[in-house]
Amino acid sequence: LTFTDLNLSDWALETCKELGLKKPTPVQQHCIPKILAGNDVLGLAETGSGKTAAFALPILQKLAENRYGVYALVITPTRELAFQLADQFKALGSSLSLRCSVIVGGMDMIEQGKVLMSRPHVIIATPGRIKVLIEQNPDIEAVFKRTKFLVLDEADRVLDVGFEEELRVIFKCLPENRQTLLFSATMTENLQTLLELSANKAYFYQA
Ligand code: AMP
Repeated sequence: LTFTDLNLSDWALETCKELGLKKPTPVQQHCIPKILAGNDVLGLAETGSGKTAAFALPILQKLAENRYGVYALVITPTRELAFQLADQFKALGSSLSLRCSVIVGGMDMIEQGKVLMSRPHVIIATPGRIKVLIEQNPDIEAVFKRTKFLVLDEADRVLDVGFEEELRVIFKCLPENRQTLLFSATMTENLQTLLELSANKAYFYQA
C-alpha cells in the first residue's frame, strides 16, 4: 500500500514526499482511510509507529476542505509531547498556512487566552491548563463550539494521571457530533470506560 492508496489529496501526497515519508506505516494504512470516512478510531500504537501522522494527515485534509475556526483539539499528557505534536502538525500542514497553537502549563495565561480567542485551526494542549482557561473565561467555551476532531494522544497516560475532572470540563465544551480519535500504547480499564461513554462505535486498530 502507498500513500496514494489512502484517499489523500495531492498536496498531502506532495508533503509526505518532501518529508521523506515513502510508505505509510501500518497504523497509517489502517487509520487514515477510516478517519477520512468519518469514523471514530481507537488505535493501539506506540510512539515511533507513525501514529501522529496517522491522525494529523486526515485532520489536515478535512481542514483544507473547510477551514472554519477551531478544527481540532489534541490533548496530550505532557508539555514536551505537545510541542512535538505541534512540530509534526506544522510540518505536515506547511502548504496550508495552518495556524496551530500549543496551550500548556508554565506559560502566560492572559496570552494563552488571547491565542484561544483567535481560534487557531489546531490546538494542542495538556489537560490542566486548558481546563483552567475554560473555567476562567466564559468566552472560551464558545471557541470550541464547532470543533470537528478531538484527539487524545497517549490516551492511557492522560487517563492514568487522573485527569478525569479536566477532561469532563473540556468535553463539555465540545459538540457531540465531533469525531473522537484515541491513540494509546496500551488498552486500559479507563480507556474502556471512556469508549463505552462515547456515542459512536469506534474503529479499533491494533498492530
Ligand atoms: P510517531 O509515532 O508519530 O511519534 O512518529 C515517529 C516518527 O516517525 C516521526 O518522526 C515521523 O516523522 C516518522 N514517520 C511518520 N510516518 C512515517 C512514514 N510513513 N515513514 C517514515 N517515517 C515516518
